[in-house]
Amino acid sequence: MLKRTALILFAAVAGLLAPGARADYQPKAEKIVDNVYALVGPLGQRSADNDGLNANFGFIVTPKGVILIDSGASRLGAEKLAAAIARVTDQPVRWVINTGSQDHRWLGNDYFAGKGAEVIALARTAATQSEYAGQHMEGLTRILGERIKGTQPLPAPKTLAGDSATLERGGETLELAYTDAHFPGDARVWLPQQRVMFSGDLVYVDRLLGVLPWSSVKNGQQAFHALAALQPARIVPGHGRVCELAQAQRETGDYYDFLAGTVGAAAQEMEPMDATLDRYADLPAFRHLQNYGDLHRPNMNRAFTEFESQ
Ligand SMILES: [Zn+2]
Repeated sequence: MLKRTALILFAAVAGLLAPGARADYQPKAEKIVDNVYALVGPLGQRSADNDGLNANFGFIVTPKGVILIDSGASRLGAEKLAAAIARVTDQPVRWVINTGSQDHRWLGNDYFAGKGAEVIALARTAATQSEYAGQHMEGLTRILGERIKGTQPLPAPKTLAGDSATLERGGETLELAYTDAHFPGDARVWLPQQRVMFSGDLVYVDRLLGVLPWSSVKNGQQAFHALAALQPARIVPGHGRVCELAQAQRETGDYYDFLAGTVGAAAQEMEPMDATLDRYADLPAFRHLQNYGDLHRPNMNRAFTEFESQ
């Protein structure tokens, strides 16, 4: 018994000294098509165990290096992404593209830039990263504790002007466009050759999307319609398993349509908010989604407020 206690103590101390060595969540690459991979994170909350990697990432292997979509929430998170990529290819990560400004989309930038990668984002994405950096580091420090050590916020140094931009890297074509839904400056990355969409935090499946005080339901609805018009063959959502358009439509597109078309319309018609929220408190079409119980009413509340003020 004493031996066991000593062992546990030793493990705990070793864990503190070398947090990267802890036996914890490790992302695994999942092949989407040809040279395109997804790293699908757990559906739950950020934790020290998952190093804030509770979101999806992706990468494209080219003969000239790897293009990584989003860089993780911390230095240790970025190292885990790098390790998952290294299990698929020997190619180094030469380019990082950020789809957003929320911690897990970009706080690993500094790690990859330090290894020589070019870090790229649309201009408003990078500007929003700068704006929220302090707030996100503070929040993450509370959750990750010691494990945030070595994380330096690096907003994407290479910025692209315009509402959309086409990138050519390693022989691949990537089309970026703003979605501005979950966070201002959020973007999606479309691979027209493979018809794969990295939606960033526009699309959530398996768990209900969250409308935050700075989110826009109106933008989310418009951006989803634009995404659907491209008819992607596969979608790597911001959260949840890799899916096809039909599931994204049911679990995100239809929900944005409901929030804008039903709750938003009620707000514009100056109906009372509480009665509206009560009327739609139970929606069987979305009840199966994780976080529904916690998020559905606050989501409606924020949608109502957004449309009321227009
Ligand atoms: Zn997210």
